[in-house]
Amino acid sequence: MDPNVTIKAIESTTIHQIQAGQVIVDLCSVAKELVENAVDAGATTIDVRFKNQGLDSIEIQDNGSGIAAHNYESIALKHYTSKLSTYDDLSTLETFGFRGEALSSLCALSKLTVVTCTKNDAPKATKIEFEVSGKLKDTTVVSGQKGTTVTVENLFRNLPVRRRELERNIKREWGKVISLLNQYACIQTGIKFTVSQQPNKGKRMILFSTKGNPSTRENIINVFGVKTMNALVMMDLKLELVPSALPLHLQGKAKGDSKTTEVRVVGYVSKPVQGEGRQAPDRQMFYVNGRPCGLPQFAKVFNEAYRSYNSSQSPFIFADIQLDTHLYDVNVSPDKRTILLHDQGQMLDNLRESLIDLFEKQDVTIPVSQA
Ligand code: ADP
Ligand code: MG
Repeated sequence: MDPNVTIKAIESTTIHQIQAGQVIVDLCSVAKELVENAVDAGATTIDVRFKNQGLDSIEIQDNGSGIAAHNYESIALKHYTSKLSTYDDLSTLETFGFRGEALSSLCALSKLTVVTCTKNDAPKATKIEFEVSGKLKDTTVVSGQKGTTVTVENLFRNLPVRRRELERNIKREWGKVISLLNQYACIQTGIKFTVSQQPNKGKRMILFSTKGNPSTRENIINVFGVKTMNALVMMDLKLELVPSALPLHLQGKAKGDSKTTEVRVVGYVSKPVQGEGRQAPDRQMFYVNGRPCGLPQFAKVFNEAYRSYNSSQSPFIFADIQLDTHLYDVNVSPDKRTILLHDQGQMLDNLRESLIDLFEKQDVTIPVSQA
């Protein structure tokens, strides 16, 4: 390199765009961030509306808390959040969001509009528009009900390569985003979740919806149908971790209950029965304490255990790993899809055994249709 070159700081707008592209990587990230914000706001109805499979717009309406006027300025500023104030809060975090990056990133990558209304403001809502930097541009009073509607139009308008990729791979991206929304809809009890799509020319159609059910079982039936549910077996597997495998501060806690601390895997999995049509692999949904995430190692153990009973099919999996918040870290990647589990190896070994036990107990001779 030329020794006379000057090392200088990247201009802040450029940094913003570079980082935004890591938080919002695809259509799924948009859906995920906006749904999580709605859940964090305490919504009991969440309406996800796509136009042209998200290429034109994605709009998410909730009936949650709404945003108070004194916060309009900060909504889309980078690292501004109402959910986390110190690093220590991370270990006991109960909200999905905490990085204060989603709305700010969306401003950098699309046209973002927020319409919001708190209980006290109804029926007067405020429509908020933003600069690319996330600074507030304009507010207008409109009519509305308690809650927030966030609209993202023309995603990746200023990243031509990514926009082209999105358009080119829209079929695959669309499949992914629907699977992701299935995953959220199934775990959220007490929330009416509706997903609809309006094609370029044509009428809006509801793709699936849940009814604010009290149980995940009913959610799964709403999303996948009763036939799918009938082919599943409930699981509540207890994976015991020996104290020496735990972080020091948890070892003391484990002493009280003789020798272990418990990790539970709660949910549903296909009965290992031959004959029924192949279950799509995208019907494999994993969560950590209710937080949807990708757990490829867990999926592998499930698939392997299942295949030793039924070599021709992949199982439907709905599995929530329930464990102490000190035993995992969600702050691994900006999109929070990757979760680091403490001593995952031991958990997986135990899971393998527990699944074999569970499958052993199933009467594999009953055809699925009569089960
Ligand atoms: P984070 O969720 O990490 O805090 P976001 O950029 O997603 O960051 O959101 C910034 C802030 O905007 C949130 O902390 C929250 O206070 C507010 N907010 C975003 N979406 C909603 C919503 N749907 N309802 C109420 N408040 C919201
Ligand atoms: Mg958020």
